[in-house]
Amino acid sequence: MTLDLKALVRTIPDYPKKGILFRDITTLIEHPEGFKASIEQVAAAHRHLGVTHVAGIEARGFIFGAGVAIALGVGFIPVRKKGKLPGETIGQNYALEYGVDTIEIHADVLDSNDTVLLVDDLIATGGTAIAAVGLLRRTGARVANAAFIIDLPDLGGAAKLEAEGVEVSTLMA
Ligand code: 5GP
Repeated sequence: MTLDLKALVRTIPDYPKKGILFRDITTLIEHPEGFKASIEQVAAAHRHLGVTHVAGIEARGFIFGAGVAIALGVGFIPVRKKGKLPGETIGQNYALEYGVDTIEIHADVLDSNDTVLLVDDLIATGGTAIAAVGLLRRTGARVANAAFIIDLPDLGGAAKLEAEGVEVSTLMA
C-alpha cells in the first residue's frame, strides 16, 4: 500500500495569527518513511532534467531541498534570509503582507552553465518563490522547475510561477 503523505501533514488553526490554517510539515518529516518518500518522489519527478544544483528556501526548504540534492547527486544552494551568508551576496526584496523581506545567495555560486531546481515546503501566494527564481536567474543560471511538497491552489502562487516560465510540481494540495 502506498503511504498517504497528506495524512502526515497536520493543520494548525490560528498560527502564526488568528484566521490562518497553518500546514505543519514537522509531522511529515518526523515520520521516517514519509520523509523518505517525499524526498524520493520529488527527486524522481526531476531526475530526467539533469539539474546541476538544487536551491532551497530558508528554512523548511532546506530540509527537503538538501534531501533532494543528495538524491539527485548534485550540490545544494541555501537561499537565505538577509545577513546570514558570509561571502559576497546578491539579494532580492519581496513584499510580505506587511512590509518587505530580502533573500540572498552568494554572488559566485552559479553561472550560465547551471540549471537549478528550486525546492520549498509550500507555495501559497508565490511571492517567496518568484523572488527566489528572480534572484537565481540573475546569476545567468536556468531556473525552469520548482518543486513544493504542498500547494495552496486558492492563493494562486503556482499559476503565477508558471507564468514566469517555471514548471511547478507539488506532492499534495
Ligand atoms: P508565499 O510566498 O508563497 O505566499 O508563502 C510561501 C512561504 O511561506 C514558504 O517559504 C513557506 O514555507 C511559508 N508558508 C506560508 N504558509 C505556510 C503554511 O501554512 N505552512 C508552512 N509549512 N509554510 C508556510
